Amino acid sequence: MEEDSKPFEKQSEETLGLATLAIHSGQDADNWKSRALVTPIVTSNSFKHDVYAEGEEYHYSRMSNPTRKALETNLASLEGGKYGLVFGSGLGALSTVIYLLKSGDSIVVSEGYGGTHRYFRRCADQLGLKATFVDGTNVENFASAIQPNTRLVWMESPTNPLMKLIDIQAVCNRIRSITSDWTEKPIIVVDNTVMSSYFQRPLSLGVDIVMHSLSKYMNGHSDVIMGALILSNEEIYEKLKFFQMAVGVTSSPFDCYLVLRGLKTLHVRMREHEKNSLEVARFLEQHPCCVKVNHPGLPSHPQYELGRRQMDGYSGVLSFYIKGGLDDAKRFVSKLKLFAFAASLGGYESLCEIPMTFSQRHTPAGQRETTGITQSLVRLSVGLEDVKDLKRDIGQALDYMLSAQNSAEPVAGGQISVP
Ligand SMILES: *Cc1c(COP(=O)(O)O)cnc(C)c1O
Repeated sequence: MEEDSKPFEKQSEETLGLATLAIHSGQDADNWKSRALVTPIVTSNSFKHDVYAEGEEYHYSRMSNPTRKALETNLASLEGGKYGLVFGSGLGALSTVIYLLKSGDSIVVSEGYGGTHRYFRRCADQLGLKATFVDGTNVENFASAIQPNTRLVWMESPTNPLMKLIDIQAVCNRIRSITSDWTEKPIIVVDNTVMSSYFQRPLSLGVDIVMHSLSKYMNGHSDVIMGALILSNEEIYEKLKFFQMAVGVTSSPFDCYLVLRGLKTLHVRMREHEKNSLEVARFLEQHPCCVKVNHPGLPSHPQYELGRRQMDGYSGVLSFYIKGGLDDAKRFVSKLKLFAFAASLGGYESLCEIPMTFSQRHTPAGQRETTGITQSLVRLSVGLEDVKDLKRDIGQALDYMLSAQNSAEPVAGGQISVP
């Protein structure tokens, strides 16, 4: 997006910008005896103590580790929070948040990532927690789902895979006003995975905790499974830090190092993902085989204005309805050469999937269709390849699908070969 359309870009002359923070925050060479400029991977699981000293920082790596600490410091500053905590996966971060609740509490969840819904339906319910699922595009849906025992509100914006937006600030304000005289107020969390800290900072919009699957854009190189929580409330942080140590959903120093390395180019990667995904979205939108494209950067997106207000840009994720049904969607993805048919998103490489049969297959059928996840929906994670090649790849696969629709005998498709 152009400079003048970034209302939440908090980069004044005095405060450091995100790129500077990504490269320097938590990375002071003076943290290390060797004064290494690149954060060392401290593999030791235990740390030597002085017999007579008290309160030494490092003890045992499940509790804290110097490489992990460097990453947690870096993440907190990128997201504009005071504290960062990392976990063995995004869902590990979610399940640690659940320890803040107790049996009998209820949760309000917006639509979104399939694994998050599976957790609330099949894991949280075993702990006596009741989740209510709402369409987050209407603030009033949150208001009517709130119960006196609601202790957690979990949102995802943009939603994966439909790219619907939630007005995060409006939802926070509405919930805070309903619960202003409650002694135990619900904790509001936003899963910021699809936007990354570069394009959206929900803490500035009023949420309590930002959650990330670091496995996606934040690491960006498709070689790590990790998650994070970032927040500014000290009381909640102390509890989560205790659970991080006591529950043990921890991550290896090597993986922490990889994420630190990935974060140094977050801003560069995200700008390219944005550029490529917008170009692919526009290409699809004018293609006769495509019924509708879901990308918040297209003026045809029903919440285009909200996106411009709430976000600083767009990631590489989009979805679209192909003309036809499941067989056509399968024909299309089977002919793509550069987009691998694979789960995940946010890496440098382009991926495609059919949510109905893949990432959302655990979502109950009725719920899938009413929210718009149909047989003809295809999701793309647009990577960092040359965008002309990506468009050509999509074009030839759509041509193939169309000719297969028009003739009994499918024709051979594909003019793209990768050496
Ligand atoms: C991948 C993903 C998760 C889960 O994260 P893991 O690291 O795979 O556990 C949660 N939310 C969103 C939006 C995701 O894309």
